[in-house]
Amino acid sequence: AQAVHAPHVVVLTSPGVGHVAPVVEFATRLAAHHGVTTTIVTYGSLSSPAHSPSLASLPAGTTISTAALPAVAVDDLPSDAHIVTRIVTVVHRSLPHLRALLRSLLASSPAGVTAFLADMLCPAALAVAEDLGVPRYVFYPSSLMSLCTLLYTPELARTTSCECRDLPGPVVLPGCLPLHGADLVEPVQERANPVYELLVQLGLDYLRCDGFIVNTFHALEHETLEAFKELSDRGVYAPAYAVGPLVRSSSDVAAGGHRCMTWLDAQPDGSVLYVCLGSGGTLSAVQTAELAAGLEASGQRFLWVARVPNDMDNCASYFGGEEDGDDTLGYLPEGFLERTKAVGLVVPEWAPQVEILGHRAVGGFVSHCGWNSALETMAAGVPVLAWPLFAEQRMNAVKLGSEGVGLALRVTAREDDGVVPRDEVAMAARELMVGEKGAVARRKARELQEEARKALVPGGPAHRALAAVVDMWKCAAASPAVAAGA
Ligand code: UDP
Repeated sequence: AQAVHAPHVVVLTSPGVGHVAPVVEFATRLAAHHGVTTTIVTYGSLSSPAHSPSLASLPAGTTISTAALPAVAVDDLPSDAHIVTRIVTVVHRSLPHLRALLRSLLASSPAGVTAFLADMLCPAALAVAEDLGVPRYVFYPSSLMSLCTLLYTPELARTTSCECRDLPGPVVLPGCLPLHGADLVEPVQERANPVYELLVQLGLDYLRCDGFIVNTFHALEHETLEAFKELSDRGVYAPAYAVGPLVRSSSDVAAGGHRCMTWLDAQPDGSVLYVCLGSGGTLSAVQTAELAAGLEASGQRFLWVARVPNDMDNCASYFGGEEDGDDTLGYLPEGFLERTKAVGLVVPEWAPQVEILGHRAVGGFVSHCGWNSALETMAAGVPVLAWPLFAEQRMNAVKLGSEGVGLALRVTAREDDGVVPRDEVAMAARELMVGEKGAVARRKARELQEEARKALVPGGPAHRALAAVVDMWKCAAASPAVAAGA
């Protein structure tokens, strides 16, 4: 009797708009194209409204429901605990709540739970689904290449003893670009750091899944997908499904009325450099001043989403730092706003990125290379000046840059203090906006825009990949183990 109901999947997402937004897009497509209902599960801990604007904007009467796991205490963690430590601790402490929720959904939802999906930072939760006999998947909102590096982390830990930045040669994984140790995810940069072990465990937990649902597309990661398929055909890993690019068609804030859109309307085509370091990226005070001076010296028009500087942490805004944001922009160099007002606009904390990238006046993007930003810039055909900060952003920058798809130029930091000086900012900004290398990157960005569009056409690759996953779920739903609600 179960099989006649629409499949019902439960997706557990980690905190952060970069995790929640692609899940919402995914669930929206599942409902619209495949008649699948979804329950999106979030964590009550670490949550602030800034994490879930996409959830708040779900249309009423939709086939997508939400459930928040009760908050768990994490106040025993040191106040400077790494973001991954915080999230993984919440994931572990919430497992009993997740089990209770899954049990109640199995009992109450007409289709039971056809499949359980855990976001990239919560694969520990797959064990709960396994216990309950529910098919389980990893929902991976970043590149397949970065997933390959995380799957490789246990081997890296076992087979090497130095810091990965000191490895004698690049790490070469099947179908992936050669990566220098320093370009691997930021928490594996230091073996002694307890976060290193958490990442190793993450790589091991991924092995519990029946499949990886990845926010990527063939034209972007063709070789990686082919190599991964070979590995999964040999039973090394579960199969990967390229269902992307999962990008929103609009931001959640009311973009129409946002003053930066009116400002953009008054600028010439392709003339504005958009500067934004994701939902959480922050710069030190020195770096903020150098960026400001560099933008000013570049002579380019700019739209800068600025954040209160932080000298300790480059993702200080990730858990909703905007609550103590400085809307007065008082931390910018003296006179900067006045001197640049004819060519620049600075917006504190947050702006409607999807609409900005889609605006005809925007010609370049200074980006931290978070994967959502990377896909959004491809969807808009805008070239990038890569300024990676944390997580897997350095390898994303490699993928976007000349070793990879070639839509990004790089800024170079000083060796001694890691600061990108003003002259470098100014030169790189000019090169991207009006230089020859920028023109090449722009061409590549437009080529990828076309490929991203093709991936998403009805009946196209993303649609077919998702249909394959849904078919598999439907088969599983007809099987007695799940139908019985385990
Ligand atoms: N974003 C936005 N406005 C901002 C900053 C970020 O709309 O001012 C959105 C952006 O469009 C993207 C997400 O927040 O969808 C950031 O995700 P990404 O993976 O790029 O980086 P993260 O925030 O996870 O570091």
